Order: sequence, then structure tokens, then C-alpha cells
Amino acid sequence: MLRFLTLGQLQSNCYVFACDQTLEGVVVDPGDEAQKIIDLIEEEKFKILYIINTHAHIDHTGANREIKKATGAKILIHKEDADMLEMGRYDLSFVQQELALSFSVDRKLVDGEIIKFGMQKLKVIHTPGHTPGGICLLGQDVLFTGDTLFKDSVGRYDFPGGNKEDLRKSLEKKILGLDDNLTILPGHGPFSSLGEEKKNNLVLKDLLEK
Ligand SMILES: [Zn+2]
Ligand SMILES: [Zn+2]
Repeated sequence: MLRFLTLGQLQSNCYVFACDQTLEGVVVDPGDEAQKIIDLIEEEKFKILYIINTHAHIDHTGANREIKKATGAKILIHKEDADMLEMGRYDLSFVQQELALSFSVDRKLVDGEIIKFGMQKLKVIHTPGHTPGGICLLGQDVLFTGDTLFKDSVGRYDFPGGNKEDLRKSLEKKILGLDDNLTILPGHGPFSSLGEEKKNNLVLKDLLEK
């Protein structure tokens, strides 16, 4: 079962994804407005095992602490973004400094790792470029893309830790070879499919040509 909320000033997509049988689930990118996420979890009677951050930016991690407190879930993030999250030192000019929380990461993810909850599982795909430890999460018919791939666009690579060549390689080598029928669930904006993006995403085409 997949539910989503668009939250906060930067309109980040937060996903709650759970096993239909056991109701065990994960929260992907709780960026803001923790109470709305908690209400949804309680309404659906989900048992949240993990909070997974696609990367360390505050608009994807801002409600980590409150969701952890409310659910007891563990915080998971790729090892190369974990320090930034723990130190709260991700310098983004567009966010308020007081939101730069610091807290500990429970599990540092690596490429290829499988995250299991109930009958469901998600595979971690390390896709650096937007940040060094950015990840996509691959399920049976869904791909959570964080700020790596959007409908009609790709992630910015001009923030600290961003790298255009890394982003190009991540998309080309790790994402574009996946099944075209996958539903793309991005960190911002509307959903899409991988096939659609391969066909129609001009920003992606432009990036790949360079
Ligand atoms: Zn970001
Ligand atoms: Zn974002």
C-alpha cells in the first residue's frame, strides 16, 4: 500500500509504503509537517520499521526526529550522506539554519542493499550527483527517485557535494536500464514512468548528451 503527502515550503513528496498483509512499512523522506505523516500512519494502522532518506537535504529529512519519536522506526540513509545528517552541517542557502537538525543515523546504507518490511522489499541504488550519498529505491513496480530524477527534469548538481558528471553516470548506468514500466516516485512534483522520462524528458536527454 502506497500513500503520499506533499509537505513543507519546498513541496517535498513524502511516501508511506507498507506491506498489505502485515502493515509493516517505511516512510520515505519525511521532510516537514510531521503531524500529518503521523496522522496518516495512525489512520492506516501502519507499523513503521524504517525512515529512509533518499538524501540528507533538510526538505527530505526535516521530520525524521519526530517520526522516529512517534514510531520508534530506525533512520536509514546512504553512508555518504550520513555524516551530513548527523552533523547537521549541510549548508543550503535556501533553508533556515535552525532546521539543520543533528541526530544519529541507525543504519548506513550501501549500494545493492535490500530493505525488507513484511512481504515488501526495496533495493538501494546509490545514485550520487545531487548529493554524494543520494539513493533511489527500487520496488517491484516502483522507483523512488528522490532528487535524482523528476518528471521532465533531473536533480540539481550545483549544491555543495553535487556533481554533474556523477549525476549523468548514475542515471545512465544505474537507472535508465531498469524496466520502462516502473512508476517514478520523485522527491518533488508529479509521478511518471521510466519509459515516459526516457522518451520525453529533455533535461535528461540534454544531460546524457554531454
Ligand atoms: Zn535535495
Ligand atoms: Zn528536495
